[in-house]
Amino acid sequence: MNKITYIISLLLTLSGCATVRQTSSSVSSSTVESGISRENAEKTRVILRENAMRLSTDATRAFSYDPPGSLVTTDKPIETQTKQIFAFSDAGVFFSNKHDGARLNAIQKVNDSSYIALISPENAPVNFSPWYGFTAWSSKPRTISLTLTYRDGGQRYIPKLSLKPSADAASWKKIDSSAFTQHFDSAGRRVTSATMRLALTKDTLWVSAQELFTSRDFEAWASSLARTNPAFVRKSVLGQSSLGKPIIRIDISEAPPNAPCVIIVSRQHPPEHTGTLALLPFVETLCANTALAKEFRQKYRVFLVPCVNPDGVDAGHWRHNAHGIDLNRDWFNFNQPETRMIRDALLKMRDSLKTNFAFGIDFHTTQHDVFYTLSNPSGLTAEDSTKTELMQLFTKEAEIRSKTVQTWLERTQKLFPTYQVLIDDSPRTPTGATSARWFDRILLAPAVTYEAGDDTDRELIKQIGVGSANVLMEMLLKK
Ligand SMILES: [Zn+2]
Repeated sequence: MNKITYIISLLLTLSGCATVRQTSSSVSSSTVESGISRENAEKTRVILRENAMRLSTDATRAFSYDPPGSLVTTDKPIETQTKQIFAFSDAGVFFSNKHDGARLNAIQKVNDSSYIALISPENAPVNFSPWYGFTAWSSKPRTISLTLTYRDGGQRYIPKLSLKPSADAASWKKIDSSAFTQHFDSAGRRVTSATMRLALTKDTLWVSAQELFTSRDFEAWASSLARTNPAFVRKSVLGQSSLGKPIIRIDISEAPPNAPCVIIVSRQHPPEHTGTLALLPFVETLCANTALAKEFRQKYRVFLVPCVNPDGVDAGHWRHNAHGIDLNRDWFNFNQPETRMIRDALLKMRDSLKTNFAFGIDFHTTQHDVFYTLSNPSGLTAEDSTKTELMQLFTKEAEIRSKTVQTWLERTQKLFPTYQVLIDDSPRTPTGATSARWFDRILLAPAVTYEAGDDTDRELIKQIGVGSANVLMEMLLKK
């Protein structure tokens, strides 16, 4: 066993790597249609809202792909990463995890040109989203080999490199494939670690699991959106995160305060940057100077929280908020301040303004592009659905909402004939405490979890964001 292999094996003895796929679910609508008289529609809606959770099947049942305990959302301890510069002065090589979005827990020198890093999650068990990020530089030009090893995880993200700490996607480049090697476990199935070759100079090199986009970048984007569109974009602070960071709320509208509302949330899960790459053009399309967007804004409102988990994003977490909780499993218990403040704002709109919610989207990232919907939206069995008239009504309403989501996706598919709009009805995950589920059940909004892939071409993500936003506006305006 050579020295590198020995150190890797030492570091890997710390790893318990539960390979768990991220998943989410959702559903949809809000119109009470055929078979129910207009005057009873609002009454029906109230009954459905009041009974939504009672009619749910056990909402605490775990997702198939979640690690154990993810639906227990009371605070869990996290391991705080020590912010520092890792200096190997004799070799003139330096690494740092001091910036927002960094994650580098330990690093060891094998020789002047070879290093091994340990990347750990904030706590475990945790979903398989092993985020890392650091900077590196050298007092004189030197090419180094750096091996990433993981505790409670394995290798997933291909490194992105940049010579500036920019949120501008163009400044980041995926590492050249010849400079990156992934190492499999002995069964040849799981990628446990990876080695990258980095050409270091005295200029800081930024290395990150995905392009870096921190809470500061969300703030800058939101400010710019509001500054560019003062007539209809209002930026405010919805509340404070667990660590006291501002959680930004954006309202987009030229419509009356009680106009139907589209809900958009994003970045509950810190590493899911490609969801942001879809979100930004999606929202910018709703704000565009087009006849369609103008008409949309005169008839609808948009409630947007672009970064639900700024603490997790800035701390380089794999999945959780500062209290160690997966926020997108807290939409039943509402134990965390981030989910609670969004719930409260939306319920206030519903109850004081009598807002109807026309659609809800939660942007995420997973291994491939997919839209999570629910084929059995009510979560009821065939037997349940025949039990009471109310349950039948509930199921019928849920089906209408599902159909609305389906129509949106079918029309988006038509717009991109060479791209496959993949829909996952998540039949194996019939219940869960996700935002989309709550938008569906409680707000009676057609809702979907919009997942962009880890490695999907960034320009394609943008195009689909723009296209699907236009389709949504057309659909809601009945065009
Ligand atoms: Zn996610």
